[in-house]
Amino acid sequence: MKRVLITGGAGFLGSHLCDRFIKEGYHVIAMDNLITGDLKNIEHLFKLPNFEFYHHDVSKFIHVPGDLDYILHFASPASPIDYLKIPIQTLKVGSLGIHNCLGLARVKNARVLIASTSEVYGDPLVHPQTEEYWGNVNPVGPRGVYDEAKRFQEAMTMAYHTYHGLETRIVRIFNTYGPRMRLNDGRVLPAFIGQALRGEDLTMFGDGSQTRAFCYVDDLVEGIYRLLLSDYALPVNIGNPDEITIKEFGEEIIKLTGTSQKLISLPLPTDDPKQRKPDITKAKGILGWEPKVSRAEGLKITYEYFKSLSQEDLHRLAH
Ligand code: NAD
Ligand code: UDP
Repeated sequence: MKRVLITGGAGFLGSHLCDRFIKEGYHVIAMDNLITGDLKNIEHLFKLPNFEFYHHDVSKFIHVPGDLDYILHFASPASPIDYLKIPIQTLKVGSLGIHNCLGLARVKNARVLIASTSEVYGDPLVHPQTEEYWGNVNPVGPRGVYDEAKRFQEAMTMAYHTYHGLETRIVRIFNTYGPRMRLNDGRVLPAFIGQALRGEDLTMFGDGSQTRAFCYVDDLVEGIYRLLLSDYALPVNIGNPDEITIKEFGEEIIKLTGTSQKLISLPLPTDDPKQRKPDITKAKGILGWEPKVSRAEGLKITYEYFKSLSQEDLHRLAH
């Protein structure tokens, strides 16, 4: 049985990856310090003999007994309000955390895949974003703690690849959504759906003309799985290129939820990227991957998930 370590395994994406690797017959070790994650996301796996959970901060030395075939480094605060609240931990997990994972991988002779992000392109001057674009990041702006940690993480990973010959993979993830997102993580989808369910107006930042392209979580997981098993070491964008303005997105959520509330405009956060859409030519060519779930389908499933939360959670996690 192949053994995989997933850091950030109790988070939104990490927990879906745990499910996928369990389904594929792996022994899965999830490691998480629960700073933004939740054990509820993986409690259904606890009873399985091929699942283990380690409560550990990966910015500190990592010890895992036994063999490891793969390490997926997903630990990191991921939403703007999270990484603005814990900026130093964000920088540490992207630097010390990946250094620990790479060191562990050398000892175990394991392949490492890191979760990078479309944020490495910053507020992009090239549209759509190809992997060759070097980005437009403000290192000293509020988002710099996340963007630069991820850029450093990519550089460190490539250095281990070229200097130590370690097998590495880099996925640049574009905005992904689905069940298990935290209602109060500040990202636009849980924010809008939570507001609609509580009967509040939807808080659109700026005039809503900024764009994003939203990928359903199952599509992302499939792309990551294929990339891990491929032999391609350079970064690959995984995302859904179906681009939409945030204003149109808000209108879609209003229609989906049937709320009688409206969109209200709040100030646009500093350095909020104006346009974002992945160029997925590489993923298509190298991995034979493209997204399958339309936004209409994915939003419906996600809305059902948020509707199933208790009224208490809905209000406790209001802001
Ligand atoms: P999340 O906050 O739900 O998950 C992150 C997990 O990492 C949490 O469970 C958290 O407790 C854990 N963690 C954070 N610091 C840790 C540390 N020092 N030690 C151990 N565990 C730690 O966020 P997510 O959306 O699931 O994001 C997962 C990864 O994917 C992140 O690396 C993020 O940067 C990347 N990513 C996500 C998206 C997206 O749209 N969701 C987009 C681009 C990149
Ligand atoms: N956004 C918004 N209202 C909210 C939360 C976010 O209008 O309540 C906007 C935000 O300014 C950004 C877009 O939605 O332009 C996506 O934000 P999110 O935090 O989800 O992701 P990111 O900016 O990291 O892509």
